[in-house]
Amino acid sequence: MSSIFSKIISGEIPCHKVAETDDFLAFLDINPNAKGHTLCIPKKEVDQLFDLDKTTYNGLMAFSRTVAIAIKKAIPCKRIGLTVIGLEVPHVHVHLIPLNTMEDAQFIKKEKSTSEDFQATATAIARFISTS
Ligand code: 5GP
Repeated sequence: MSSIFSKIISGEIPCHKVAETDDFLAFLDINPNAKGHTLCIPKKEVDQLFDLDKTTYNGLMAFSRTVAIAIKKAIPCKRIGLTVIGLEVPHVHVHLIPLNTMEDAQFIKKEKSTSEDFQATATAIARFISTS
């Protein structure tokens, strides 16, 4: 059975897209720790990060860097945290989280957002995605 993230890639489930390449997708986390919390995923469905082939692993890290730089430009914060953690979805995902306090990294405090907020945030980040 396809993962929920594969259903997002295929368009079966909607998302607030931030960036996309042939191999990777970035979209806002539906239950964000902080405004701008973004997930970067490979389109190839693999459960665990270190099971990715080297090319996809390196590509995912480079893609995440591009997205993190865009988030930092769009969302006021001290820095962008990167973590690969969690047991919920068996499809590799890099969490990029705008940090103002260490609580933002702890997956305890959640930010409430409307669909309009999500769309505005995704658009603001997407504007800063560098194509070079
Ligand atoms: P983890 O596997 O890292 O514990 O959790 C998966 C992450 O994916 C969570 O932060 C959760 O909010 C997010 N997530 C789960 N289902 C969906 C979904 O359908 N859409 C989006 N945008 N995010 C999701």
